[in-house]
Amino acid sequence: MDTGKSLSIVREVYEKYKDDGQRLVRELKKLIKEGHNSGDMVIAGASYGFLADVCRDNGDTSGVLANSIKAAELLKNTTAYGLLIRAYLSLSYAYGTQDNNQMALAACDRAYRVVKTHRIKGRYRIAVLNNLANCYHILGEFRTSVGLLTECVKHTREEFPDDYDALAMRSINLANNYKYDGDVQKAREILDGMEPWINRVSYVPMVCDYYLRRAIVFYALDDNETANANVDKSLACVPSDTFPQPLYADLMGIAGTLIQLKDKERAKRIADLMTVYAEKCKGTAEQVYAYRTLAGYYHAFGESEKALSCYKHLNELYDKRMEELTGVQARIYKGMKHADLEITKLRKDMRKTEELYSQEPMTKLLNRAALLKISSEFIETAKKKRQKIGVIFIDIDCFKECNDTYGHAKGDEIIKLVAGACKDEESSNIRFARYGGDEFFGITHGLTDDEITEIARRICRRIREENIPNEKNPNGGIITLSVGLVNVGITANTDTIIGIANYADKAVYHAKDAGRNTIFFIRYDFDEKDNLHGSAEYTKIDF
Ligand code: GH3
Ligand code: MG
Repeated sequence: MDTGKSLSIVREVYEKYKDDGQRLVRELKKLIKEGHNSGDMVIAGASYGFLADVCRDNGDTSGVLANSIKAAELLKNTTAYGLLIRAYLSLSYAYGTQDNNQMALAACDRAYRVVKTHRIKGRYRIAVLNNLANCYHILGEFRTSVGLLTECVKHTREEFPDDYDALAMRSINLANNYKYDGDVQKAREILDGMEPWINRVSYVPMVCDYYLRRAIVFYALDDNETANANVDKSLACVPSDTFPQPLYADLMGIAGTLIQLKDKERAKRIADLMTVYAEKCKGTAEQVYAYRTLAGYYHAFGESEKALSCYKHLNELYDKRMEELTGVQARIYKGMKHADLEITKLRKDMRKTEELYSQEPMTKLLNRAALLKISSEFIETAKKKRQKIGVIFIDIDCFKECNDTYGHAKGDEIIKLVAGACKDEESSNIRFARYGGDEFFGITHGLTDDEITEIARRICRRIREENIPNEKNPNGGIITLSVGLVNVGITANTDTIIGIANYADKAVYHAKDAGRNTIFFIRYDFDEKDNLHGSAEYTKIDF
């Protein structure tokens, strides 16, 4: 039987059952058997080829691989060149999805040899050139890619002069490869050459992509004005429903450049656009790109709190992405390695932002917002481990007078000095915050009363030994501190920091009333109904 006839038999079956997947598979398998029995390799090979297509539609890559191999084996000694090329390209696709890029290239190269040997023209030749160029691109052989794509663009223009979509896609690829190969000027020439006909392209995302690529090229050429104009053109024609995945990396790159150029407005427009589309399409990869961009934006423009929440969300997205990647063995390795690097960097960024966001700028101690957060963490730990929660509340004595006598700058120095003394006492069980103007708040968990007392003593002694003059202070005319201490188990009355701080505050007032320059430890009992039992008891601590 001749090739054409065999082919039309298979095609007929395909057309008849293409909407009923299971039936189609059954019929194709029947044809394979018939082909084998009658020795008609075209029927059997073509049927395997269609089976591979079905698998591809179902996302079954190993099915694509197995069926394409069989199709190619059966077809390679026939004259069904088109089908053979399709089988090789399908094989190349399957290897590509498994990140087996060398094998993908080898399969594509076989297709290319069929094209050359039998002087195949038309869509098959163009498809092969395009795919082969893509394989070389992935392997970093941009120069080879440029050669193949130049040929591809030439044939497309000659044979399908009205197919502007195809022409645009290949030309953009060509420009891209020139750029990767370091020839930005040539990339610009190719893109400039497309301008007269780009409005004939019907696939809008490609037009959008075109302007993005131009923007990238002009940024690379330091012509920011033209680049910006292209960003604007791209944003003006952004499709309203979905945004094609491959554009995300470009957008992220451009947003990065805009952030560097401090172009806040454009950077934000891109970041917002990416986020909206990423949420809409629900793709994890898209969301990673979008939130990285948004985080970068907030980070660069000092909105640390928002940056931090983006980083946190990103962390979850990375975990999710890693789970998604576990499907294909080869990808796990690559994906995890990549994600690991990303996460390490991310955690570093996150820590930095968190530190910045939680610091009181003058003393570098925690600010009040961060104190609240740390306190609830400490309280949780204390609850779990049945530990005590403690507070060291410090207030500088007669500080107003100190400012009045020696000036505000001297006052600032003293605040930093006391903060430094507090900071030196910090550990995993104790953190200090600047609570108010001249007030410092230490929160502890898992410490004994004696340990807390010792910390307060050390701080007071250290400040006293500095002998900083404050002539209006009746306590020796130097800077002194009043300190309130409390250390309690967690009950309903003490499971928020506000409740505990209240008692520490009382202890500080007690110290002020007792003449300042004093430490007081406050102890109080609750009965089983959590009512305060009797009155609080204050113990004076010498230092
Ligand atoms: P007391 O012994 O009762 O605590 O008296 P005080 O003068 O210290 O009174 P209070 O604690 O109410 O006053 C705190 C003063 O701290 C008021 C303000 O002038 C000063 N202050 C607050 N923040 C700063 C600051 O950042 N720098 C300086 N230099 N002074 C500050
Ligand atoms: Mg004071």
